[in-house]
Amino acid sequence: MPYFGALEAGGTKMVCAVGTAQGKILERISIPTRSPEATMPELLGFFQGKGLAAVGIGCFGPVDLDRSSPDYGTIQSSPKLDWRGYPILRRFEEALGVPVGIDTDVNAAALGEAVWGCTRTVSDSIYITVGTGVGLGVIINGKPHHGMLHPEGGHIFMDRRADDPMVRGVCPYHPNCLEGLASGPAIERRWGRKAEELADCTAVWEMEAYYIAQALCSYIMMISPERIVLGGGVMHQEQMLPLVRKEVRRQLRGYVQGKGLDNLDEYIVPVSLGDNQGVMGAIKLAMDAYIERGGRL
Ligand code: ADP
Ligand code: ZN
Repeated sequence: MPYFGALEAGGTKMVCAVGTAQGKILERISIPTRSPEATMPELLGFFQGKGLAAVGIGCFGPVDLDRSSPDYGTIQSSPKLDWRGYPILRRFEEALGVPVGIDTDVNAAALGEAVWGCTRTVSDSIYITVGTGVGLGVIINGKPHHGMLHPEGGHIFMDRRADDPMVRGVCPYHPNCLEGLASGPAIERRWGRKAEELADCTAVWEMEAYYIAQALCSYIMMISPERIVLGGGVMHQEQMLPLVRKEVRRQLRGYVQGKGLDNLDEYIVPVSLGDNQGVMGAIKLAMDAYIERGGRL
């Protein structure tokens, strides 16, 4: 039975795992993200000597995912300056000598849920993470969607709430994008305290739900997903999901109707694989890379 390696490469931590084609995680470690020179030997050290059939990477980005590009699998304009321009896919292939698959971290998480988790019964779904940043993974026909680059749904532009006390969002690129107005750091900037310390402040979560719901309405109308998964640190606030569902219903104003929208409790759902959707998606990326090179499961 082949074993697959999985890397969830994040801005703060790197999660490395080994798993099977059934999505069973056999081993998992987490190390802090430092510079490529410091971090890569640790990552490769974990994967080497394990007889892996292939490795999959869910990577922070943006990442070049155009297979015809000479920079395929290279990290692009990351805020992590050390990693900007780093050809992570090529370095893994060279060092490990096995097929390596790559996608964005959110696409990998979306894929993990789509193969083994709460969206496995539908073919088109989206996954939104609300944490240090806001990311959108899109699954169309069971596969992560890329198009020109890959969706950057955290940076869609918002209609600000008139009573928002924060004058400008925290995104350095856009004054009014979703990430700039609704990420964990945006909540902290707006209210002057860390998001996790604001659990009792109703106004915080109503404003947050207003922005998240606005983004979901745009995604619903553009992508028509059959189910929406919400993850990330900010979604640990238990009051968020009900507030988001209520706001989505209010903001859609009955314009779009569909099977999913009749029951928002099953349409807008929390993550289902604990903390493992990212690495499980990366295992699927590894399996696909393996099969593409003629491997058999
Ligand atoms: P990352 O996005 O870095 O992978 P997380 O998804 O955990 O990591 O997001 C971290 C952000 O989420 C921080 O801004 C933090 O303030 C916020 N956060 C973490 N836990 C909670 C919580 N329980 N309630 C609200 N916000 C939280
Ligand atoms: Zn932005």
